[in-house]
Amino acid sequence: MKPKIKWTPQRLAILKYLDGNKEHPSAEDIYAALSKDFPTMSVATVYNVMEFLKRTGRVKEIYVDPEKRRFDPDVTVHHHAICIKCKRIFDIFSDIKIPELGEHIPDFQILDAQLKIYVLCPHCKDKEDLKLGFKEYQCTNCGAIRTAKHKPQKCPSCNSRGSLKEFISAQ
Ligand code: ZN
Ligand code: MN
Repeated sequence: MKPKIKWTPQRLAILKYLDGNKEHPSAEDIYAALSKDFPTMSVATVYNVMEFLKRTGRVKEIYVDPEKRRFDPDVTVHHHAICIKCKRIFDIFSDIKIPELGEHIPDFQILDAQLKIYVLCPHCKDKEDLKLGFKEYQCTNCGAIRTAKHKPQKCPSCNSRGSLKEFISAQ
């Protein structure tokens, strides 16, 4: 029997919230975003809808965040990297083969496999570097930017000496 659900306004609001959403939200995130407009909504309501959407192939549960169940309305094949600092999940659409998986378990039919990639995203990496006393230096000759603790004597890209100036980023 095909699973069915009654599309109440709050359930529809969840659907609309998910449409094109790239944040890989948890049920709690969805609840937090919508509960103001739908005071009678509960986290359980969100989970019910997510279970229904999962069973009907309209969202995928992703397992990269050890703290929360996260969902992705983009059900096309792709991998995910999670930033261990800000917990943002990034899509990786390159066709990374999970190498030789089938060779290790030849008796099984593999239905789905997800890579778990843990990263510091560029933003959090910069913040970490700054905390550790790193600074950015830009070469006045070739424009290359270099992150270092102390001002490098020469530019690693164009080799000109004394050309590096402390770089203040626009943001
Ligand atoms: Zn981050
Ligand atoms: Mn995704």
